[in-house]
Amino acid sequence: MNNTNYPRLAAQYGTPLYVYHQAALTAAFAAYQTAFSGCQPLVCYAVKANGNLSVIRHFAQLGSGFDTVSAGEIARVLAAGGDASKIIFSGVGKTEAEMEYALNAGIKCFNVESLPELERLNDVAGRLGKIAPISFRINPDVDAKTHPYISTGLKANKFGIAMRDAEQAYQRAASLPHIKIIGVDCHIGSQLTDLSPLIAACERLIALIDKLSAQGIALQHLDLGGGVGIVYKDEHTPDLHAYAQAVEPLLKARGLSLVLEPGRSLVGNAGVLLTRVEYVKHGEEKNFVVVDAAMNDLMRPALYQAYHAVENVSRPDAPQITADIVGPICETGDFIGKERQIGAAQGDILAIRSAGAYASSMASNYNARCRAAEVMIDEQGNSRLVRRRETMDDLLATEREYL
Ligand SMILES: *Cc1c(COP(=O)(O)O)cnc(C)c1O
Repeated sequence: MNNTNYPRLAAQYGTPLYVYHQAALTAAFAAYQTAFSGCQPLVCYAVKANGNLSVIRHFAQLGSGFDTVSAGEIARVLAAGGDASKIIFSGVGKTEAEMEYALNAGIKCFNVESLPELERLNDVAGRLGKIAPISFRINPDVDAKTHPYISTGLKANKFGIAMRDAEQAYQRAASLPHIKIIGVDCHIGSQLTDLSPLIAACERLIALIDKLSAQGIALQHLDLGGGVGIVYKDEHTPDLHAYAQAVEPLLKARGLSLVLEPGRSLVGNAGVLLTRVEYVKHGEEKNFVVVDAAMNDLMRPALYQAYHAVENVSRPDAPQITADIVGPICETGDFIGKERQIGAAQGDILAIRSAGAYASSMASNYNARCRAAEVMIDEQGNSRLVRRRETMDDLLATEREYL
């Protein structure tokens, strides 16, 4: 990763350019398997973090399952060669068409987030002559202590079923003819830097599992979601071994299997976004380094005030100035980093770090910008295009015929 010649890749494929390191994907996946080797969990990569087909295929080849939140994501997994029987379908707003699609594909589990969704799923499955395997997403009401936009496990959040309604929900599910109860799940937030909320959530779900078991409702799996944070700057991140040690005995004592849904922690630090310096602007109060990547390529700074490290990879020793690194989009929120020490001159290539997760998958065409190309570096250090850069024709394709 460190000896990759990024300026050469920028010259070959153009900028902005997402670059992913396959060895880092493999290592991140192996870290979960090693830490949790005592209970051999089904690790279901959360596709929304990075839906590139080659990323999905690589995880599929490592034996991964997949956490999906739309029919489109299920289609991506199937197109990449993923195994339908390892697909989990999460999300608060599943449509009938999406349920049909997932039932016909034969997915492992619907993570159901409300009673109306349960009733609809039962109807759709009945119409297709199928049985829908389900888990309820329970809101354990723990504070994940992360950014409010990516905290999902509090009472005030839209996600999941409240703990106090959980038993009734399972009883209702047990009475429905086209539903098969197989598990329970939660997902309390993203970019968690502290292990304790994850363990607290697990303990609360275990207490629920015991209550259900006493009522004759036996579950096969516990799905603890994703959320494990990564280092963007200097964060502390949860230790996977400690996580496994806290969780495994609780599962083993009950004969439960474990499902995990990591996204960011599998891909986040496996990718960078390369960008070219267009201008260095010395303003009255501030300096600006204007680059060719923007909030449409990397939305996290604008959306969450997120920090991404940026470095000059073409001239690492260039004299530094203090500057805001900004894109060309007509929004003040279009920044990559603020008040950074950065060496930059026109034509330099900058690497924006930690751009493997929630970067290309959140990209848009705002300001009629073509979405960037994506490149994979394989274990031997060879690069290959895994998504071509969009063209002007792509931008116009869905409208031109209606002129
Ligand atoms: C986003 C999401 C994940 C992945 O979260 P990370 O923080 O990227 O690990 C897992 N499960 C569900 C239901 C999600 O919405």
